[in-house]
Amino acid sequence: MATPYEMALAQYDRAVKYLSLKRGIEAYLRSPKRELTVSFPVRMDDGSVQIFTGYRVHHSTARGPTKGGIRYHPDVTLDEVRALAMWMTWKCAVMNLPYGGAKGGVVCNPKQLSMRELENLTRRYATEISVLMSPEGDIPAPDVNTTPQIMAWIMDTYSMHRGYSVPAVVTGKPVQVGGSLGRNEATGRGVMVATREALAEMSLSLHDCRVAVQGFGNVGSVSALLLHQAGARIIAVSDSQGGTLNPRGLDPKALLHHKREGGKLADFPDGEPIDNETLLTTECDVLVPAALEQQITASNAGHVRAKLIVEGANGPTTPEADAVLLSRGIQIVPDILANAGGVVVSYFEWVQDLQSFFWSEEEINSRLEQLMVRAYREVGATAREKGVDLRTGALIRAVERVAEAIMILGIYP
Ligand code: NAD
Repeated sequence: MATPYEMALAQYDRAVKYLSLKRGIEAYLRSPKRELTVSFPVRMDDGSVQIFTGYRVHHSTARGPTKGGIRYHPDVTLDEVRALAMWMTWKCAVMNLPYGGAKGGVVCNPKQLSMRELENLTRRYATEISVLMSPEGDIPAPDVNTTPQIMAWIMDTYSMHRGYSVPAVVTGKPVQVGGSLGRNEATGRGVMVATREALAEMSLSLHDCRVAVQGFGNVGSVSALLLHQAGARIIAVSDSQGGTLNPRGLDPKALLHHKREGGKLADFPDGEPIDNETLLTTECDVLVPAALEQQITASNAGHVRAKLIVEGANGPTTPEADAVLLSRGIQIVPDILANAGGVVVSYFEWVQDLQSFFWSEEEINSRLEQLMVRAYREVGATAREKGVDLRTGALIRAVERVAEAIMILGIYP
């Protein structure tokens, strides 16, 4: 299988065919602007010292400071972080946010670390990447296995080095230390809005629509809750340890409660246990992959039985799978549009921090809704105009905006 970065390049190359970019710009945007690899020691609870590897990649700074989450996972690679940084550039551009794309990651298994070890690792990683990170230059946020608490440690570490509090250096923080209302739910809320818009175009509605969700973390669980609240029937959910299915519908709140009490999804009393492969090919109206990259591939795309896929995760569908799904008439709302709610409210958080003036949750949710609907419709219009799928339409819009910025800025010196 292609690597995530090869996948990102294949998607980029497909979109670039529809744009008459200058050769130099086309090549410029194929590579990240800068990449940092750090190797750092962490004191463990037993007194030993363990060396960890982390990354921070900036893909483009043409439209503003860079923005992108930090991932803690044993499988993090520089190639993956590079792909995620490129997707962030396109996501910010498609939403018309004044940002370029970045991403970070640490190779670790946070489930095997104590709270103190997690804090030590986070504070040292934040120090290591502080040569790139700042409110004006690069603003991290949460991603897989990173939480508001971890963002608070990043803010505090940066602030301790500066000698004063700098909330705007990171988003996704707890509200008590400059976080935004609505940020925790933002990505899932955006997924819900994108699903509603896509269904409306297919003359379908959320009411009683059957939804399967892969991944039950921040994005997956909130998507399930909000889709359920909007009238959809959540028939299957899964996480890294397996899943549960009930064609009559599952209650996402009860699922969350079950998980919080230490239960496994597969043991949920109101459903049948299923594995991830079965979830992806379950008969449903909407499939929301909200876990990791490369879940829908050439080998299972032929068996997907959804009418619509809404990509909560980044890069869940390989280009080969895209081709199979499109030929089968399955509509896909691409990641850079579907899961952009998170970066939109991160942008709101940054703006609030810079102004030290905080908005109400209603204002945040209504501005998020407006931006999601506007971007969805713009992408739809481009896709129709060029006769392409939504992913290519979204990329055409995004790449065009970034290329325009580069043309206006010119080449220094
Ligand atoms: P998270 O750590 O909160 O949750 C990840 C979930 O995926 C967990 O439930 C985990 O058990 C599950 N998972 C892991 N491997 C799996 C597998 N093989 N099969 C099924 N489930 C599996 O992370 P998150 O923040 O919800 O991020 C999920 C995805 O959404 C990632 O692709 C991330 O880049 C993307 N995303 C996150 C945000 C955000 O604001 N957090 C924004 C945009 C995109």
